[in-house]
Amino acid sequence: QCALKERQIVPYLQPLVDANGKVVGAEALVRWNHPRFGMISPGSFIPMFESNGLTRQLDSFVWREVAAQMRDWKDRLGICVPVSVNVSRVDIFDYDLVDHMKGLIREFDLSPDEFLLEITESAYTQDSAQIISTVNALREAGFHIEIDDFGSGYSSLNMISPLPMDALKLDMEFMHNAFKERKNTKMLDAVIDIAYSLEVPTIAEGVETAEQMFALKAMGCDIVQGFYFSKPLPAEEF
Ligand code: C2E
Ligand code: MG
Ligand code: MG
Repeated sequence: QCALKERQIVPYLQPLVDANGKVVGAEALVRWNHPRFGMISPGSFIPMFESNGLTRQLDSFVWREVAAQMRDWKDRLGICVPVSVNVSRVDIFDYDLVDHMKGLIREFDLSPDEFLLEITESAYTQDSAQIISTVNALREAGFHIEIDDFGSGYSSLNMISPLPMDALKLDMEFMHNAFKERKNTKMLDAVIDIAYSLEVPTIAEGVETAEQMFALKAMGCDIVQGFYFSKPLPAEEF
């Protein structure tokens, strides 16, 4: 809580790039700039925040910072950059989530379809009926939902098609294994085909090399994100 108050928590932004190399958006990835330990990645502190119930506070802080940043870009530079924010499983069980999101969009005078919501695939495994109804309510309010870490091992294929979604973000493992063995390359291609069958765009994360980039383009992947283009950056640098 002290870290939030003292603004040690900062959302970084990583560009999302389309097949022609154009920046089409960003993902907000939180960093903790700790006075003693330096920059800490979310992988180390999100699990801790989840266990002490701070995730909701952290996430709404990040969403607010992102919304304010988008407003600032519009006002100062006249540009609209859609930003995806991560929505954790605990947020979805917050009865107030839909109103909270609507309020934020209203306050900063943004359109809900430029404030994208990433929900990790594993969030759908338990109580999926409640999650699906919340996600439907968010979509009715105009928000776009991206399934994050798609294919990371939690879902069975027959639960995918009823999931309300506007984009699929492939789990990074597909990318990192794709060029080790031929069968893995085929797997990547198959997952992109699944997204195509579901009629939603695919986003590939963890793209680190030109080889990966060109292979993805050939496979019909729509959007890529990764160190090949840029690491997550402070907003000013972004
Ligand atoms: P994610 O949403 O799947 O984010 C992608 C992760 O991949 C990020 O790690 C990003 O920095 C990293 N990444 C991007 N490009 C590359 C690449 O080319 N190679 C490799 N090896 N990695 C790449 P990060 O920032 O450490 O975040 C880890 C996870 O923490 C995120 O996974 C997300 O689930 C969670 N997270 C981040 N920010 C937030 C937040 O504000 N709220 C919540 N609830 N979770 C967050
Ligand atoms: Mg994400
Ligand atoms: Mg991911």
